[in-house]
This record gives sequence, C-alpha cells and structure tokens, in this order.
Amino acid sequence: MPQIGINIKEATIQKREVIVGIDLGTTNSLVAVMQDGQPAALSGKQSGTIVPSVIHFAQDGRILVGDEAKNFLIEDPEHTIFSVKRLMGRSYNDIRNEQQHFGYRIIDENTEGLVKIQVNDTFHSPIGLSALILKELRLRAEEQLGMEIHKAVITVPAYFNDAQRQATRDAGKLAGLDVLRIVNEPTAASLAYGLGRKQETAETIAVYDLGGGTFDISILRIEDGVFEVLSTNGDTYLGGDDFDRAITGHWLSLAGKTTVDVSRHELQELRLLAEQAKKHLSTADDFSGEAAGLTLSLSRTVFEELIQPLVDKTLASCRQALKDAGLKAEDIDQVVMVGGSTRTPLVKSSVATLFGQEVHDELDPDEVVALGAAIQADILAGNQTDMLLLDITPLSLGIETMGGLMDVIIPRNSKVPTSAGRQYTTSVDGQANLKVSVFQGERDLVRDNRKLAEFILSGIPGMPAGLPKVEIQFILNADGILQVKAKELRSGVEQSIEVQPQYGLSEEEMAKMLLESVKHAQEDMATRAVVEARVEAQNMLDTAERFLQKNSNRLNEDEIAGTRKLMEELRDIQEGDDKDLIHSRIEALNDFTRPFAERIMDHAISEAMKGKML
Ligand code: AMP
Repeated sequence: MPQIGINIKEATIQKREVIVGIDLGTTNSLVAVMQDGQPAALSGKQSGTIVPSVIHFAQDGRILVGDEAKNFLIEDPEHTIFSVKRLMGRSYNDIRNEQQHFGYRIIDENTEGLVKIQVNDTFHSPIGLSALILKELRLRAEEQLGMEIHKAVITVPAYFNDAQRQATRDAGKLAGLDVLRIVNEPTAASLAYGLGRKQETAETIAVYDLGGGTFDISILRIEDGVFEVLSTNGDTYLGGDDFDRAITGHWLSLAGKTTVDVSRHELQELRLLAEQAKKHLSTADDFSGEAAGLTLSLSRTVFEELIQPLVDKTLASCRQALKDAGLKAEDIDQVVMVGGSTRTPLVKSSVATLFGQEVHDELDPDEVVALGAAIQADILAGNQTDMLLLDITPLSLGIETMGGLMDVIIPRNSKVPTSAGRQYTTSVDGQANLKVSVFQGERDLVRDNRKLAEFILSGIPGMPAGLPKVEIQFILNADGILQVKAKELRSGVEQSIEVQPQYGLSEEEMAKMLLESVKHAQEDMATRAVVEARVEAQNMLDTAERFLQKNSNRLNEDEIAGTRKLMEELRDIQEGDDKDLIHSRIEALNDFTRPFAERIMDHAISEAMKGKML
C-alpha cells in the first residue's frame, strides 16, 4: 500500500514558501498550516475551522461551498452535493448498492466508467466537485495568510486505491494546487501526535477514526521513518449520524410515533436536537430540549444504551484489523483517536479498554488529520530536517530484455524515493533504435507482469552489436511516480519518459500479482533458464556469423565448414525447451572456434603493434 515518503535532499522547494495541509473529508474538510512552529487549522467566517464538504448549485447559477451550501441539504437535495469523497475514483458499478445514500442524481449510463453527477443540465465529475471544496479551502488559507497558496499536501484514507489517490491529486490540480504529496489519514494523525519521531525504535499504532458517517481503524507500524499500513478495517456507513438517528428513533418511540408520522421538517428538527443532545452528553449527564412540538430529555445512561450496539460494531472491526495484522491488542504501543464522534465518552472508554491503555485524545479530533498534513507539508518545505519519512514500493519495476525476460531494476519493498540504473547494449550490428519497455511485477517473464510504458531510444549512431552502452535509469519519486531515462553513453543520445506505476492498479490486483509470483516461482525459474539459454544461443550464433564474414580470408575450409555445421546443429534445437542441450551445443561451437579465434586475435594484436611501431 502506498505510504508517504520524503527525501529532504530532493525537496527543491524554496524555504519560507507556505505549503498547506488539507484534510479533504467525507462530511467536513479543513486546511491547516504551520504557524510559529506549531500546526494550526485555519478558521473561516462561520463554523470555526471546519468547512462542510457540501456544494450547492443555486438557481441563479452561483455555486456555494461549505456552511452556506449545507443549509440547502434538506431544502434542495437535488442541487446539493455531499459525500463526494465516496465517489472519488469509482465507477457506477462500484457504488451501485450505495445509491440510496445520495440525494442527488448519479448517472448510470456508462457503468464501467467513472461516475458522473447530474445537476440541472450539467454533468459533474467527483474530481471537479472535490476541486470546488479544495478551492474554497485554498481561498480561505489565502485570505487568512494574506498570500497566494499554490502547494498542498492532501490526506486520503489508508484504504484508498491508486485510482482514488490519483483522482484526489487531480482535484487538487483543478483547484490550482500543486499536490506535493498524498498522505494517509492515519499517518497524518500519528504525525500530529509526534509518533514515529524516535527513529531508532519501531512502534505499532492503532488509529481509530469515527467521523459523522464513516468509521476506519488502521494499524500502522513505524520503523526507521517508514510508515507501513499493516491492516485497515471499518464501515463506510457508520458514524455519529447513526448516533443521532438512534436518539431520534428513541424520542419518536417514546412519543408513540415513527418517522412516517412526522413531516420532513419536523424530522430534521428532531435530528438537529438529537445531535445537540449527543454533544451535550459528552460532558454532561442529562439533556433536555424541545423540537417538533415535543419536550424531550435524555440521560447519558440511556444514550449509552442506545449506541452500545454501534460502538460494539466498531470494536469488532478493531479486532478484525488486529487479526489481519497478525497482532494482539497488547502489541499496540499507541492508540490515536480521530473524528468528532470519538468525543463521546463511551467510545473513548470502550477503545481504551479494548487496547488496554489510555488513548491519545489531547488534540482536537476533528483537526488532527489536517494538523498532521500541515506537519508533513512543513517537512516537505524543508523546515523540519530531523524527520525522514519513507515509503516502500509494493511491486518490482524493471524492463524487458531479450527473450521477454523481466530485468528488475528497482526491486519491490525498496524505500522510495530511489533510483537505480543498469547498462545494456544492442544485439544487432548498426542498430539505430532501442525499444525500452517498462514493466511492474514479480514474475520472470514480462508477459506475466504489467506493462507500464514503452519508448524508443532512437538515433543511436551505427556501431557493431555489443558496442553501444545504453544506460537505463529508473528514478522513482516519493509519490511512486517513475521516470525512466535511456542514454547511449558513447554518443550522448538520450530519451526519457514519466510513468505512474500504481495508477489504476487496485489493491486486489496488486495482491494477486504478488500471490501469482509466489505460486509460479519454480515454474518461472525454469522458464527463465530456458529463455536465457535461447538468448545465449542467439548471441553465440550472431557472433559466429560475424566472425565468419569478417575473417573468411584467414580461415581454412575445414574451419569454415566445421563452424557452419555446429551453428546449424545449435540452430536446430535453439527454440526447444532443453536448456542443457542448448548449453552443450553452445559449448561445442565455442570449443571448436576457440583455437582459430585466438589465432586471428593474436594476428590482430600483432598488426596493431606493428602499427604502433611505425
Ligand atoms: P467528523 O466527520 O470527523 O467531522 O465528525 C463529525 C461527527 O462528530 C458528527 O457526527 C458530530 O455530531 C460528532 N461530534 C462533534 N462534536 C461532538 C461531541 N462533542 N460529542 C460527540 N460527538 C460529536
């Protein structure tokens, strides 16, 4: 799973440039920045630091974002978009079963393609809509800081796949932001608490994130500055809103009613009061209020009974995440609380009991992810040099060599950013073009791996086969974006291409590719050996052919005929599967030609010596 990574040496960002950290959330978003050495969330005009992730398309053509838009959720649901994060990088097929959760129109014509949302006569992409939220955050930051903002770090859930990450990055671009890094939310939360700073000791961290509508548990391991996600679990439709619904249901049943007995407006009033009650009960024992013509009250004891099943569900997810990571609760060194709903005392105490320790709740749970993103941004800006966070690349990267073999240049699990290079040569005399095909995967044959890119290094000046020195260099940056450079060292001809190795490869696909490589390892090794023998045979044949043509006047008939015969015998079995037979015929040809090859070589040397002496 992609992590975050930073290479201080490569960070070319000017000092003093402000890079903001953005938590682009399902219900709420925030922007934070370092101020006087501390991360701080920036506040706006209305609801403090939080910008509701809601967009309203008004009748008069205006587009409202945030608090203003939120007011239209009930009044004008068709023109008011919320939860757009749930649609990022997803196709209609992906969200088919969730459609009832959205009040707006999701287009279902192209089920394979990315979803589109229809508002009036216009189609919007989740990327474009997210860009509107990001733009609002950027403007907020610009207003507060009195300067233009061009660069940002944006957080995403740890389980986001590459398509979803790429979509988030694209949204940033559309909002006029250069997204320097996509960071996992649990990683950002850990950073906000300063975890992982002690590079010498490994730590295992559980990040429990209960928001308004989603729940995530992530188990992370930090070692030598590498944040590794060991497992994630959760429920994409469980959060504080369910607490509110439980309270509303309780009040209605006390009044002998159900949701159908009240108007939409009354139900909304009840929900708002329920949320108020819930928040009040985070610090008090009793609540009372009025809504929809009813006088209502709630004690903390009753509230806790109502939400106990929901809290238990989150605990079950935590146990599963531990199991998937191969850990027990006592293996967890730190527990971090994220999301507004972790303010509920029952949630906090239940999580503390499960993990057998006090939880980190010192920071505002709504802000903690954005604060961590701001710290990450600050590291990128080169302001915190004691911190080095690295990522690992999940699959090997390499190029196709003769015979369709995968030649790995950057092995899987390498820390990124990284670069590696290797030299190659041509196999044909006078070869002017060299095709470079880039692959990702663990199998020995490229046809079993995933092709990422291909380009041609052209204009290599005519040289005998084997003479050009082509250096292929792979440069993998911290976001997993790969640049491949090819340079012929004798002539200086060069070419480069940028590829994005992880784009569109889901976690399942990645897991499948890794699994296949293990399953087929034996078979692959055998195939590789045969392919290598075939390539060696071809090289031997080419060399012998060149040798005969160049030196026919220095060879006697027996030598020529004998060489031709052995070449023929090698050619006959060259494409077969018996690598030992291929090797023995290569040897035979080699042994036969060695004496006269040496004789001609000696002659060439003495000729050269003669030349020198003159
Ligand atoms: P988030 O999605 O992280 O912004 O979380 C928002 C959720 O946190 C909503 O369901 C809020 O009702 C809930 N919340 C906010 N403040 C409190 C509080 N003091 N006690 C309990 N829940 C809260």
